[in-house]
Amino acid sequence: MTNYRLEELRTQIDRIDMQLLDLLNRRAAIVEEIGKEKDKQGTIKYDPVRERELLNRVAANNQGPFSTETLQHLFKQIFKISLKLQESDNSEMLLVSRKRHPQDTIVDIRGQKIGDGNKYFVAGPCSVESEEQVRATAAEIKKHGLTLLRGGAFKPRTSPYDFQGLGEEGLEILRKVADEFGLSVISEIMAPEDVEMSLKYVDVIQVGARNMQNFNLLKAVGRIKKPVLLKRGLSATIEEFKYAAEYILSQGNDQVILCERGIRTYERATRNTLDITAVPILKQETHLPVAVDVTHSTGRRDIMIPAAKAAIAIGADMVMAEVHPDPSVALSDSQQQMDFRQFDTFMDALKPVVFS
Ligand code: PEP
Ligand code: MN
Repeated sequence: MTNYRLEELRTQIDRIDMQLLDLLNRRAAIVEEIGKEKDKQGTIKYDPVRERELLNRVAANNQGPFSTETLQHLFKQIFKISLKLQESDNSEMLLVSRKRHPQDTIVDIRGQKIGDGNKYFVAGPCSVESEEQVRATAAEIKKHGLTLLRGGAFKPRTSPYDFQGLGEEGLEILRKVADEFGLSVISEIMAPEDVEMSLKYVDVIQVGARNMQNFNLLKAVGRIKKPVLLKRGLSATIEEFKYAAEYILSQGNDQVILCERGIRTYERATRNTLDITAVPILKQETHLPVAVDVTHSTGRRDIMIPAAKAAIAIGADMVMAEVHPDPSVALSDSQQQMDFRQFDTFMDALKPVVFS
């Protein structure tokens, strides 16, 4: 073959490649149109019967030299990426998506505007144990100028024989003490039927990690008009976390704070693995404020300061930490709660970073 002939054939190939490129993108544009129509009609995207027909048509019309099997494989890939194209459009349409709602959502907790660019702290005991315990802790957090008091009244414990929390009595204590100090209350509710009852006590309902996919609870807190702090599930992907928040927004409540609290990995040096990069990813992909729970993610008092600094540096709006007057006798999480002296050191280390 002369060089001239080779050049000529290559020119033909180049032209065909450009035609293929053009055809593929024209096909993709039509696929997107079909996706929008299907969205309007509410029909599902994947249609295996139609896909089978297209593959049969490839077989019937194939003249070679490629084998039918090879071409069907190739077309199958085209179908796959086409479906992806329709689905990615779909995920951008989620209510939590920043593409759909570019402005930051601000969650208003009695005038504290989470997501406004300032940094907020929420602190308090793992469990509400007594009025005295909550009052001492409230005084401690007030001393540092903080306004958000946490405390568990309904505790999701691994063992049914461990302390389960004081229930409604715990919420009553939180409300009473918070009012004495002018603080807001954040507390976990585990059952959809308790949501209504909790509204007279709490300012923010926490949905715990173990309930991130309790879809009835998510729908129930979606129907109320109070902020929700949604914690990431123990083994939830960021996508699953976003869909959990979507459940809440889909019911009309957009006052949602996403809380990264560590995920379960093979690593045992920390209680969980703090997925710090989840913070900027959630900030980029959603419009919701993001919190980091440095207590449950690390399970280690000795690294809470750097973990909190990292959370703030990477863009978290809020840091959550557990503090207890006497952690060694706490009824839950006694290993990881800070005592007041440690909390003073924690806040003294963070204040210059946050309020400079
Ligand atoms: C809590 O914050 O009290 C708690 C139980 O945390 P998590 O749901 O993240 O385990
Ligand atoms: Mn705890």
